[in-house]
Amino acid sequence: HINIFWFRRDLRLHDNAGLYHALKSNNPVLPIFIFDTNILDQLPQKADRRVTFIHDALKQMQQQLSETGSTLQAFHDTPLNAFKLLAQQYTIEQVFTNHDYEPYARERDEAIAQFLQQHNIAFHTYKDQVIFEKEEVVKDDGKPYTVFTPYSRKWKAALNEFYLKSYSTEKYFYNFYQQSIKPVPTLKSIGFEETGASFPSATFDNNIIQEYDQRRDFPAIAGTSRLGVHLRFGTISVRQLAKQATQLNDTFLNELIWRDFFQMILWHFPHVGKGKAFKAEYDFIQWRNKEDEFARWCAGNTGYPIVDAGMRELNATGFMHNRVRMITASFLAKHLLIDWRWGEAYFAEKLLDFDLASNNGNWQWAAGCGCDAAPYFRIFNPHLQTKKFDPQLAYIRQWVPELNELTYPTPIVDHEMARKRCLETYKKALER
Ligand code: FAD
Repeated sequence: HINIFWFRRDLRLHDNAGLYHALKSNNPVLPIFIFDTNILDQLPQKADRRVTFIHDALKQMQQQLSETGSTLQAFHDTPLNAFKLLAQQYTIEQVFTNHDYEPYARERDEAIAQFLQQHNIAFHTYKDQVIFEKEEVVKDDGKPYTVFTPYSRKWKAALNEFYLKSYSTEKYFYNFYQQSIKPVPTLKSIGFEETGASFPSATFDNNIIQEYDQRRDFPAIAGTSRLGVHLRFGTISVRQLAKQATQLNDTFLNELIWRDFFQMILWHFPHVGKGKAFKAEYDFIQWRNKEDEFARWCAGNTGYPIVDAGMRELNATGFMHNRVRMITASFLAKHLLIDWRWGEAYFAEKLLDFDLASNNGNWQWAAGCGCDAAPYFRIFNPHLQTKKFDPQLAYIRQWVPELNELTYPTPIVDHEMARKRCLETYKKALER
């Protein structure tokens, strides 16, 4: 008899809620991971930095597990098939895993729950990737918040030691199922290529966090944590991070609350993750959707240096600074009047820290159609943004070295004209 722990976006052995409960249970715990073909088969690129990141994280866990006499068992299949195989191979009593709030994940877990039930196997799931989830922070009338500031106030009021406490899995490592190592499949064998990508380290830099509120808006300096990808795949614990944030910097803590907020929004309003604006009236905007302009935006050839620098950083590294994400997203939706969903999809393909809830929430915010979005008539001026946040052009010059040369494109659109055009177009949709 065994129990199973199923890793998904929580790729760590330490301070992992579901794993802790699994290890404390009655039976030896077989840890598994599924390279889900439903997801992987849809990725357009065979050289995907995220798949490389996951693969690296699994190999690292495999190493740690081998030290306990255990091994990770990895599958390359649909989750349902993987569980069918497992049920043939082992006598399974219970399966443990952590919550995932995305629409696809909810359907997947629903199907697995049904399968397990048919086989008399218990299925236990836990909160792990956020501090507060679902209905834990709601308005006094029990309805979900749709505005951030009151949500964050309630979030902070509800916070106490209990929610930040680490799950000390190490105490129970002896309960991992003992067997010889089963190698993690190579990237090649699951249809992917090595990307040679380098990833930000998972260490928490106290100095960066301490000065976060002062330095986070300047893309030329290392003023943010770069922990996005680690939070995305759970190679760092959000509890540990939030705990340090409460001691070091309230602005940084606020960003972690935004992360919880968008997961909560996606949970309560799953339509936002299925191509719909949070505010339905914004789905009547007449986008121009010029493909050639979209291609110039993607490639970083709009003739707006701050936009181009951001897009080139994204293409080259899989990262873009938050300030520049806001500028490039606003530029696409408002200056070019290209459907924000095109931009959302492009970011989803490229961002190392891509996360449906945060990406969607922030894109809707930038386009004006999200919950608690900036009012639509507030349109970022790329020149003023540059003056404020990259006054020495240090960030821009790093990514657009040909800035003052003839080869640099002339602006794709005139700012004043684009601003007026945007206001008219949005107005038409909203005042129907
Ligand atoms: P830090 O500034 O050090 O912040 C720490 C952590 O807080 C981040 O790693 C992240 O987990 C969280 N966080 C910070 N800002 C936000 C925010 N605005 N919303 C939600 N969580 C936040 N973030 C993603 O994690 N995945 C995405 O796919 C994503 N897409 C975005 C798309 C657009 C158009 C915009 C404007 C923002 C997007 N963000 C996304 C939010 C933010 O830009 C990134 O989280 C941040 O830049 C990551 O860098 P960092 O780890 O250095 O963040």
